[in-house]
Amino acid sequence: MIVCTTIAEARDALRGVERPLGAVLTMGALHAGHLALIRRARAECKTVVATIYVNPTQFGDASDLDTYPRPMQDDLRVLRREGVDVLLVPSDAEIYPEGFSAWIEPGEIGERLEGEHRPGHFRGVCTVVLKLFNILSPDRSYFGQKDAQQVLVIRRMVDHLALPIDIVPVPTVRERDGLAMSSRNGNLTTQERRAARVLHRALTAARDLAAEGERNANTLRAAIHATLAEEPLVTIDYISIAHPQTLKELTTLSGPALASLAVRIGQTRLIDNITLLG
Ligand code: AMP
Repeated sequence: MIVCTTIAEARDALRGVERPLGAVLTMGALHAGHLALIRRARAECKTVVATIYVNPTQFGDASDLDTYPRPMQDDLRVLRREGVDVLLVPSDAEIYPEGFSAWIEPGEIGERLEGEHRPGHFRGVCTVVLKLFNILSPDRSYFGQKDAQQVLVIRRMVDHLALPIDIVPVPTVRERDGLAMSSRNGNLTTQERRAARVLHRALTAARDLAAEGERNANTLRAAIHATLAEEPLVTIDYISIAHPQTLKELTTLSGPALASLAVRIGQTRLIDNITLLG
């Protein structure tokens, strides 16, 4: 694996590589969710490039950025083992040079859900993703359905800016008890980790109700709320039953819908989602 820290090194390493080139963009602290993306890229692409960059502009909360895990040696070992060809680990100065001002505005879809609760989040995400795409020029890039809104926002950016890149969504990888894998799970105490099981339980309760014929979105939101309320350690940020493409909140389900939620457990913020009637 060629490890690069600058744009120039990454361009050199990728010049003339066999195509298709698959990209997996991460913030490191790699877990089985990231591995699913990397393995899918490895299976479908001749060359795989990964990035590790904890992008400061997508964090609203300075302490979240400070406590974000950065186990670089473990990550390098994992990426080598998985047969990644090139890794870019850029510095902040490389991504945001002095006076940086070329921001990407994601528009309406980026202002809902996560965007509403983390203002500027998707502006930061879109800007770094476009920059990494410009550095790497991949044919395909793999994104986790765990961050369903991110997939929609990136797809729209790629479409509106006519980037010649396929965005490939990958299903959410979960722990045995249903908790979606996340780099932040490691920050939970034992008690908080136990409480976190309620996220998936709440979403599957809504999925089961919808499968049994419930079409009233408020009833589904209430079911999620009631399940989450069983856990005193959980504080709810939002509960959403939305159109799976536009993310507009629904009143009645007439087809597949995205049920998503964000909560805080202690100092840790967790998100998850599931497709209803999918
Ligand atoms: P992150 O390092 O959290 O920015 O995530 C990097 C990529 O991995 C994003 O496309 C995420 O959606 C994806 N990802 C994170 N957690 C999971 C998971 N549990 N299952 C599938 N993909 C995931």
